[in-house]
Amino acid sequence: MDLTFSPEEAEFRDELRQWLADNHPGDEPRGDDDSIFEFRRNWQRSLYEGGWAAVQWPQEYGGRDATLMQSAIFFEEIGRTRAPLPANVLGLLLAGPTIMTWGTTEQKERYLTPILSAEEIWCQGFSEPEAGSDLAAVKTVAERDGDQWVVTGQKVWTSGAQYSKWCMLVARTDREASKHKGLSYFLMDMEQPGVQVRPLVQITGEAEFNELFIEQATIPHENMLGGEGDGWNVALTTLMNERSGLGFFLQIRMRQLLDQVVERAVENGKIDDPVIAERIGEIEARTEITRLIAYRGLSTIEKYGQPGPEGSLTKWLWSETNQMLVQLAAEVVGPEALSADTAWSYELLRARGNTLEGGTTEILKNIIAERVLGLPRK
Ligand SMILES: Cc1cc2nc3c(=O)[nH]c(=O)nc-3n(C[C@H](O)[C@H](O)[C@H](O)COP(=O)(O)OP(=O)(O)OC[C@H]3O[C@@H](n4cnc5c(N)ncnc54)[C@H](O)[C@@H]3O)c2cc1C
Repeated sequence: MDLTFSPEEAEFRDELRQWLADNHPGDEPRGDDDSIFEFRRNWQRSLYEGGWAAVQWPQEYGGRDATLMQSAIFFEEIGRTRAPLPANVLGLLLAGPTIMTWGTTEQKERYLTPILSAEEIWCQGFSEPEAGSDLAAVKTVAERDGDQWVVTGQKVWTSGAQYSKWCMLVARTDREASKHKGLSYFLMDMEQPGVQVRPLVQITGEAEFNELFIEQATIPHENMLGGEGDGWNVALTTLMNERSGLGFFLQIRMRQLLDQVVERAVENGKIDDPVIAERIGEIEARTEITRLIAYRGLSTIEKYGQPGPEGSLTKWLWSETNQMLVQLAAEVVGPEALSADTAWSYELLRARGNTLEGGTTEILKNIIAERVLGLPRK
């Protein structure tokens, strides 16, 4: 990909820089989950009103039809100004692209704009107590009853479910069919008595994810995404977007954090320690490689309309590098990073989940071996 800016691209960057200078919300507050969520939601609303919530989305749904290069500029500027995350990350990166790929015209018209404006928040109801890496083993069952489906089962690790209006739900619709073929994908309304959300408190002290107890919840047939039995393929679209999209997004956060660590190391003189300097150098190189691989993933999306299995590489590299970075941060920053309720200790603890969420490193390595490198299946 050619990284030289044309006059139009330079104009796009200048417009964005000006907008960010005028609208940047400042640092994220520390404190309870609800106020952080509200802060992120307000930030996403402001991005949406400015036309910046998802530049690569079609204009008719509130995006800008951005080119690959404009998308790259957008993410660079977001990183450079240390802008916070928007509230509806799973909607923007997972639900939106999956609906764009598989949805009917009516579904696209109904769901895409409220995702962008953060009016309707989304969560991902894939994992179950006995179906994590092996997603095709889900036991949650949906049974047809006239024009609707009745769903019963349990999901777990459902991030953001407590704020969500909609859930991307994978459920078994045919118990006779083979494991992968008996699944369907639904857009489930969370606001109904059959859906109970129970928070799970993490090592960070926040309850980012939840258990979902689903007891005779109902879903109109028109809320099925793809056809009956297409659930596995639709879920793969979501997962490929999760690995490339989330990896892409999070490598920007990693760059922000690395810059902060370097600033601290310069301030407190630890940069002069050759061991620290060498580790910073290694993480710097890995961060840059992650960025470039993530950009290559954007080219794949432009060429084929959706991300490929290479996105697994971005996610793997990001998760391991981020864990190396927070360890280093703890040594550079010192006791503050080990004290409860500091931003640094939060980063240190939260990073433990990076090599699990969105696919564990072992699973990603299998995908890269089989689907990217073409090695034989074991
Ligand atoms: C912070 C966080 C947020 C999450 N948010 C969500 C969410 O919003 N929605 C959602 O649905 N899920 C979510 N998850 C769940 C996540 O997707 C699962 O944790 C993940 O898929 C692994 O599943 P599991 O935990 O059941 O582990 P298991 O699948 O039981 O795996 C246990 C161990 O066995 C290894 N293993 C399993 N199978 C193989 C294999 N074939 N080859 C080699 N090794 C293997 C794994 O790598 C792992 O080390 C979240 C997880 C975290 C940590």
